[in-house]
Amino acid sequence: MRVIVVGAGMAGLLLARALARRGRPTVVLEQASAGSRVPGPIMLPFQAYDAPEDVGVLARVTAAGRAIAPRPDGTPVAVAVGRAVLLDALRDGIEVRHGHRVTGLVREGGRVTGVEAGGPEGPVRIDAALVVGADGTDSPVRGLAGIPASLTLSDTAFISFRSPVAAEAPFAIEFLSDGRQVTLLGWPGGSAGSWQVDRIAGGHEAALAPGLDAFKAAFTRLLPAAAGPLSGVTQPEQVRSREVVEVRCDRWWVPGVTLIGEALHAMNPEAGIGSGLGMGDALALAIAVDGNPADPDAACREYEHWRRPAVAPYLAVGSQGTRVVRGGPVRDEERWPPPGWVTRPAAPARAAPAARSAAAGPVRPHRGPAAPGGP
Ligand SMILES: Cc1cc2nc3c(=O)[nH]c(=O)nc-3n(C[C@H](O)[C@H](O)[C@H](O)COP(=O)(O)OP(=O)(O)OC[C@H]3O[C@@H](n4cnc5c(N)ncnc54)[C@H](O)[C@@H]3O)c2cc1C
Repeated sequence: MRVIVVGAGMAGLLLARALARRGRPTVVLEQASAGSRVPGPIMLPFQAYDAPEDVGVLARVTAAGRAIAPRPDGTPVAVAVGRAVLLDALRDGIEVRHGHRVTGLVREGGRVTGVEAGGPEGPVRIDAALVVGADGTDSPVRGLAGIPASLTLSDTAFISFRSPVAAEAPFAIEFLSDGRQVTLLGWPGGSAGSWQVDRIAGGHEAALAPGLDAFKAAFTRLLPAAAGPLSGVTQPEQVRSREVVEVRCDRWWVPGVTLIGEALHAMNPEAGIGSGLGMGDALALAIAVDGNPADPDAACREYEHWRRPAVAPYLAVGSQGTRVVRGGPVRDEERWPPPGWVTRPAAPARAAPAARSAAAGPVRPHRGPAAPGGP
């Protein structure tokens, strides 16, 4: 059975590797160019160990990371490691056709029989018995295949930083009154911090408007261990805001196409489980394909049958499962933007650029009473 994997993220690469180890080489199509690397760290939780172990990369990845809270037998409950380290290890020896963006599916007799992609040499068409969408939250393959999905914009967002300065411990966390998190990850490349806030009307610009110094002071108040790492945050580009889209699919496959990873289910990152779920899907699908080499529908049926119950508890609880609620009134230092900052409405679209930036930018903070209806 020829399998085409769309997307060279951790789920797609793990699938290709798991199939190759079972004597079933496949092709991965990835829209990004060959040299591009995802920066920053990831916390690989213990639920994410089985699949990388199956494909022979776990030891290499853990050796390049920082162990978090080792168990008595020495196994860490999680590893803080560069995303690029994990992706490079998974990619090693796998055929990835970079610069290939899938734009269509080929159909014959009521089933999908291949993909159409734009590549460096122009459009290509590749036949396949099974197309796997490992193409992330927005999943073009999911849309092209007509697999229904519910996409929900989360009511919380994240303000995060990356710093070259190491953190003392590999992991620190503070739970706020309502169970939202402030976290600090120390990895061999430095440190990264993340603060979960209410999603801010006005988007990224509004979220970052109070500026670098306000953010550093507020973050340190909540998590004093971040003081050292934040000394390495000197440029606004080191801080970013991120909104979160959650994905759920009731249907897992249609004839000739199935989904894995965030194309199938994306959770709020505070759950810290995305890598485990995605790579676990990939391993389950590889085992199902290996067991049904001439029947893609049987492989998909078996994949869903065994994997759905494994994923269901995480999806049922969602990120709520990681919340430790302190209760009581929300403390002022837990609010972002800080009390006293006022969010103004967006400038009219036809305002002249000079006037707009001087007088009516989308968000202009100033000291004063909290905005009505503000945090
Ligand atoms: C801020 C943040 C922090 C996180 N932290 C953690 C953490 O600490 N621990 C954890 O376990 N999880 C974490 N996660 C979740 C984790 O990163 C994801 O679950 C995981 O990366 C998803 O992998 P994936 O392979 O499913 O999708 P992706 O990584 O999104 O890969 C999809 C790939 O498909 C490619 N693609 C898309 N469309 C096309 C197309 N048309 N043609 C060809 N290629 C295409 C994309 O370029 C991309 O390379 C975090 C997520 C976020 C957003």
